[in-house]
Amino acid sequence: RDALGLERRSRRVLFDASADAMVTADAAGVIRRANAAAERLFGYGQAELVGRPVEMLMPAGVRDGHAQYRTAFAAAPHSRAMAAGLNIVGQRKDGTEVALEIRLTPHKTDSGHMVTAEIRDVTEQRRIERELLDAHRQAAESLALLETLQASAPVGFGFVDRDFRIRTVNPGLAAIQGGQPGELIGRRVADALPHLWAQIEPIYQQILDTGEPVLNVSAQGTDAGHPGQLRSWLASYYPVTVDGKVIGIGQVVVDVTDRRQADEFRAAVMQNMAEGLCVMDGDGGLILMNPAATNILGWTQDELHGKSVHAAIHFQHADGTPYPEDECELRALRVEGTEALVGEDAFTAKDGRIIPVSYSASPLVDGSPARGVVIVFRDMTEAHAERERARLELEALTWVGRIRDALDEDRLVLYSQPIVPLTGGEPREELLVRMIGRNGELIPPGTFLPAAEQYGLIGDIDRWVIGQAIALAADGRTVHVNLSAQSVADRGLLASIERQLHQAGADPGNLVFELTETGLIDDINTGERFAHGLAELGCAIALDDFGTGFGSFTYLKRLPVKVLKIDIEFVRNLTTNTSDQHLVKAMVNLAQGFGQQTVAEGVEDAKALELLRGYGVDYAQGFHLGRPAPIPDTSPSRPADRS
Ligand code: C2E
Ligand code: MG
Ligand code: MG
Repeated sequence: RDALGLERRSRRVLFDASADAMVTADAAGVIRRANAAAERLFGYGQAELVGRPVEMLMPAGVRDGHAQYRTAFAAAPHSRAMAAGLNIVGQRKDGTEVALEIRLTPHKTDSGHMVTAEIRDVTEQRRIERELLDAHRQAAESLALLETLQASAPVGFGFVDRDFRIRTVNPGLAAIQGGQPGELIGRRVADALPHLWAQIEPIYQQILDTGEPVLNVSAQGTDAGHPGQLRSWLASYYPVTVDGKVIGIGQVVVDVTDRRQADEFRAAVMQNMAEGLCVMDGDGGLILMNPAATNILGWTQDELHGKSVHAAIHFQHADGTPYPEDECELRALRVEGTEALVGEDAFTAKDGRIIPVSYSASPLVDGSPARGVVIVFRDMTEAHAERERARLELEALTWVGRIRDALDEDRLVLYSQPIVPLTGGEPREELLVRMIGRNGELIPPGTFLPAAEQYGLIGDIDRWVIGQAIALAADGRTVHVNLSAQSVADRGLLASIERQLHQAGADPGNLVFELTETGLIDDINTGERFAHGLAELGCAIALDDFGTGFGSFTYLKRLPVKVLKIDIEFVRNLTTNTSDQHLVKAMVNLAQGFGQQTVAEGVEDAKALELLRGYGVDYAQGFHLGRPAPIPDTSPSRPADRS
């Protein structure tokens, strides 16, 4: 008995002191004892547990079923663990559940058969188990995904170890390298792919040496999938490390044939388009420029790359006034992402020329958040010149009407400018025509003579001037008359001059006809005939604007020229320009050699006059000596020319 008592006592001590929760129930499932750990685990006090059914420690869902287990266990009591495979769950006093592992031990006492349950809280253990399970599943998923990708992605994958033995190669890469994965795996690259080895080895070596990847190596060749077609690839090689050690090299190869073809097509279009093309990024900096743009603007893409397009080429308007960046249309486009067609704007070239342009601009949306703008522009210089020509044409046409009216209404007037002798000859004068406008304004010959020449009215003007000149000549004045090409070619003019001279009783020697190169250039033979005809009448010929054309010497040789008029171009800066001094001296020598007299045009100051006198120039004409002024006899009230 004592031995039995001792066993019971020690069991009780162990029961109470156990770190595991322990609950003893009788055959009816009524709790008889619970230790301190059980009280802690379930949150009940001893008094709350004893005498109550063990089902109170279970969640509602399993309580009913438990009675059957208990009966079955009582019929064949044996010590057993209940945890394996079963997720046993207990319920605490506060209603929360707890994962449990339970071992049941039957034993007999004075009060009958008892079962003691050792109960362990395995919540934490279960959690770890679940995580491990998840990790396994994820790893398996990753592997499965990788295998699927390797087998089916349009990308070549491969892995070689440090001995350059092929460990992994997917069908894509094998096809590019010219084989099947099965033929390659396990072999050394040098043996399996001897045709590629020379290219690949230095790359492998570099990666092992540096531990750095080698990216975007381009390669070209053919592969099994596209017989007879040249393909382009981009290959990247990565060191594969485990615990900081490079264990081999991973390789990814992408077929970029289509992309390259698209690139080449785009480049060909950009290279060959006649319009200039500039692309700027979201900040207005230049990214791209085609050869036509370089042609028009003078800037190369490299010179402007990254620089502000506005600051480089768009900083001023067509008239040279500044174009502030915050008013810039392109900036607005960039910010708002709209499209625009701008018919009239100006870009400034590298050499400072302002180039009229028209352009279209559209936003560049390339997937990145930064917006850019593509500008396609056209140099409008030619088009503007064409427009200007058309405008002048129209203006000339309106002048035709005005000139006719002026002729009809007698609104042409003659001004006279003195030609002053320097070497003792008689004073003379040049007759210069002007028009009086409808409102009484004085219109200079430069404004209406070009239109008169173009539309065949200059002959009428010349005839009118000649009539006036002959009247002045009859008065004893020596007058110079400017003649146009049309008059030179006018077959009836010589006879008309002869008749008028005769009628007026004027000395033909008082008439000097000024011919210009432009007046003679049409047909030198006609000019020659006309000039000789004038000379036969006894009139003199002066070569006007001498030295400015290309045929001066020809005319000098073939025409009976009495007077050379040295053009204002050589006289205006005479005092400061030594080249002009040489040229004027040479022209004077030349004229003297031909026995001709010289007139210097455009003498504007006393110093020039002194130089000319020194060179032996015979006559001087210019503002310094007298401005063109209305001829007092014909129109006494006209003011002197201010032009
Ligand atoms: P041109 O025959 O060479 O006439 C000389 C031009 O130089 C005149 O201009 C005259 O006013 C200007 N001039 C004279 N001295 C000076 C000077 O010191 N400084 C400057 N800067 N200019 C000076 P204008 O009168 O305007 O005539 C321009 C051109 O129109 C003439 O050049 C001539 O080719 C043409 N022209 C004028 N009258 C007639 C005409 O009756 N018939 C024809 N066919 N042409 C005429
Ligand atoms: Mg003249
Ligand atoms: Mg002249």
